Amino acid sequence: MMRQFELVELVKSYDPKADEAALDRAYVYSMKAHGSQLRASGDPYFSHPVEVAGLLAQMKLDTASIITGLLHDTVEDTVATLDDIDRLFGPEIARLVDGVTKLSRIELQSDKTKQAENFRKLVLAMSEDIRVLLVKLADRLHNMRTLPFIKSDDKRRRIARETMDIYVPLAERIGMHRMKDELEDLAFQELHPDARASIIARLGFLRERGGDLVSRIIAEITQTLQEGGLAATVSGREKSPYSIWRKMQRKNISFEQLADVMAFRVLVDNASDCYQALGIIHSAYPVVPGRFKDYVSTPKPNNYRSLHTGVIGPERQRIEVQIRTRDMHEIAELGVAAHWIYKQQIGRVDGRQYRWLRELLEILEQASNPEEFLEHTKLEMFQDQVFVFTPKGDLIALPRGATPVDFAYAVHSEVGDTCVGAKINGRLLPLRTQLQNGDQVEVVTSRAQTPSPTWERFVVTGKARARIRRFIRTQQRTQYLDLGRAIVQKALRQQGHDFSERPLEAILTQFNCATVEDLYVAVGEGLATGREVANAAFPQPPEDKNKVVPLSRARRRGTGRDMAVPIRGLIPGMALHFAGCCHPLPGERIVGIVTTGKGVTIHTIDCDTLGSFADEPERWLDVAWSSDEADAGHIGRINVTIANEPGNLGSLTTTIGKQGGNITNLKITNRSTDFFEIMVDIEVGDVKHLSTIIAALRATPVINSVERARG
Ligand code: MN
Repeated sequence: MMRQFELVELVKSYDPKADEAALDRAYVYSMKAHGSQLRASGDPYFSHPVEVAGLLAQMKLDTASIITGLLHDTVEDTVATLDDIDRLFGPEIARLVDGVTKLSRIELQSDKTKQAENFRKLVLAMSEDIRVLLVKLADRLHNMRTLPFIKSDDKRRRIARETMDIYVPLAERIGMHRMKDELEDLAFQELHPDARASIIARLGFLRERGGDLVSRIIAEITQTLQEGGLAATVSGREKSPYSIWRKMQRKNISFEQLADVMAFRVLVDNASDCYQALGIIHSAYPVVPGRFKDYVSTPKPNNYRSLHTGVIGPERQRIEVQIRTRDMHEIAELGVAAHWIYKQQIGRVDGRQYRWLRELLEILEQASNPEEFLEHTKLEMFQDQVFVFTPKGDLIALPRGATPVDFAYAVHSEVGDTCVGAKINGRLLPLRTQLQNGDQVEVVTSRAQTPSPTWERFVVTGKARARIRRFIRTQQRTQYLDLGRAIVQKALRQQGHDFSERPLEAILTQFNCATVEDLYVAVGEGLATGREVANAAFPQPPEDKNKVVPLSRARRRGTGRDMAVPIRGLIPGMALHFAGCCHPLPGERIVGIVTTGKGVTIHTIDCDTLGSFADEPERWLDVAWSSDEADAGHIGRINVTIANEPGNLGSLTTTIGKQGGNITNLKITNRSTDFFEIMVDIEVGDVKHLSTIIAALRATPVINSVERARG
């Protein structure tokens, strides 16, 4: 285990201004916090954060990152709290430690192989600061190095697979090649130990047979370049066992068929030397077609720059050659970590698939010094998305602002249609709650539930919105159907005919309807009047036609009760609806909104919905309640919150009853352990009546809040 002074000396070797006192404090704090905890290896737990800090120091990271490495498991695994960290080490360290802790909490929730891409995005989205990700990678690397100590086969394999699926690609994407190679090899060793062993054995056999082939090829290439007038450093290695295995898998070939298992690297001083070296090599050895790639002029998305080529090289060996400058090499090996050390100009990056990386590199480019770089590198990636878990650990990506209702519809339409509540991280919360990255969401469903029009106001996904709208449309059709049938029945009765559907069937074509039901819907929507239908079904002598049949009676939506149209200013025959958003009551100022083919909808003058019609004054209809209107039968809607205690519901209904209100509908819209949210529809005479009831409810001690529903 690295000693305190060794760590401090290592940091000071590349950052002489490092805050030594803070490093010392963090070292001691972590040691005390982890106390006598042990690792699976039997080592003191504290050795782990120290090794992680050491890895970060090898990457030459700033003091804050090293301290975060030392403290990264204290909040999750010891009695230390984030407040303690904040107080002792300041808000920056606290934020970084919090970030790493959150990443640790989402780990190993399930087998995420199938959702690796989403999970990588989640990790990136939660690593708001690049340093959080770097600490997490170092943490993972040390855990992988000590993986064999874990006793459970299952757990080892799960960690290895997660490393392969999540952390190897992440390390590669941010250009940390050295780390990527090691993570990959360690995971390979756990997942396919036999394949790895056999590839290593065969590589060993080749080495033996060819003598020191790699060294001889290095010597010859170095000399060839020298003769061409170029001083270059040449190195060579066998390809990694995993990359050989991948190639055998991908191309479905045996080890013997594998052409090149050796790769050589030529390091030169500048970019033009790269091309000169390429020219010398291409003229000295036969080129393997299709292997040349120029990542110097067109860097990879992770900013990797190098020339790649394949030749039949010295001793007729097929080899791969990579040519790059020493600076390019540093970046290739250390990735983003190299950037704030060398501060060189970064090439243009084609980040079509890696928008986040381009943004990261733009930040890197704009930072004028290492400190500023770290300060401003808040990775603003996937800010438009949020990733949440199902109870089984499946990961679901949703747009930012998504709610449990969006989640429910994303899981299954049925789940969406019947959801009544949601547990977020085990707590029952309102359906309109906005989900956060990493939340675990469990939807509570009830067969009795149907989509609520109010959901439409907070859902953000197209799927949820479309389903809710479709449901409302279907429901509306049913309402229009009932309304239309009642209007037609009444019109026929008023003209002295018995109601029967047979005469209606004869006139369907006249109204462009396929079925009698369609005809009712058309009447309900106001496309045809009841009188028109009655007249068509039973043609009248002329004198009777002039007899005015006032269509002054309409059926109120949903109540199923006939009543006089209480509104002045309407166009006769026009279908009338009371808006479900604001539930207008007599005595209130109202306004009508005309929808062609649908009739007029009455809103209260202060209804939020009206804003959407502001640009269409031609649709506004000046209406008022008839002065003689005194009947009951208007529905006022209120939302009540009451404490979830026995008898409270009784107090609610009793209070309403005492004030002469008749409850027509009562629905619990949200139920938690502490409170109920209840929507109550009350039949009242007018707005004053409802105000009296609200006042009475507010005076009742067990009732927390009462609001008139306003849309
Ligand atoms: Mn750890």
